[in-house]
Amino acid sequence: MSSIDRMPAIFYGHGSPMNALEDNTYTRVWQSFADRFARPKAILAISAHWTTRGTAVTAMAAPKTIHDFGGFPKALFDVLYPAPGDPILAARVAQILAPIPVKMDQEWGLDHGTWSVLIKTYPNADIPVVQLSLDMTQDANYHFALGQKLASLRDEGIVIIASGNVVHNLARMDPRSSGYDWAQRFNLAMRTAILAGQFNQVVNYHSFGQDAALSVPTSEHFLPLLYVLGARVGDEPVEVVAEGMELGAISMMSVVIGE
Ligand code: ZN
Repeated sequence: MSSIDRMPAIFYGHGSPMNALEDNTYTRVWQSFADRFARPKAILAISAHWTTRGTAVTAMAAPKTIHDFGGFPKALFDVLYPAPGDPILAARVAQILAPIPVKMDQEWGLDHGTWSVLIKTYPNADIPVVQLSLDMTQDANYHFALGQKLASLRDEGIVIIASGNVVHNLARMDPRSSGYDWAQRFNLAMRTAILAGQFNQVVNYHSFGQDAALSVPTSEHFLPLLYVLGARVGDEPVEVVAEGMELGAISMMSVVIGE
């Protein structure tokens, strides 16, 4: 199959769940993917908001929309993203990841890490979506290696999307800040490494010391990026398509791999 037929791998810097309702510079980029890329057969999504012990995939035919947040307007709780599931893709993911055991989950659904961005790219919710959980007992190398294993799905008509934030420190959010120095430095270091294809520097983000500790106080919003970087095939193009620092401590960087 030629690279023309290969679906992209996309990291969405998702930020506030309110992006699902808003129209801004980030959501317009997410919208543009539908025109830019061929329509996928299905979507494999790795979200910061599904953390587990062990690895699981959503294997139900009709995943529910999960409103996994508090303190937002009712309008956000009213949003539904009724995309079908894809039990065959779920089984295929388990086959690819073997011998790692993958639980066929019937309980989860689509959390806001997934639907708050997909609602912009595919608003009709008519493309099947399978979520893959983040095994929080594993290190960054493991998550990158899973991305490498999953890359072949891109040649089967599957778009791999991951949703998180390169810098994500809720405790330090400040509406008066345009970006803390540590956030800007770490974000730039990651941006530079990503665009240079030096993904080992991203996997070893802890080497950025205190900047990394403040930017990634917990790893669940960072790790999804590693799946997308791992899914790069050869020397394919890598592109930063959206950028911004919200509330001083949330990086909205989005990354596309592929063409
Ligand atoms: Zn989030």
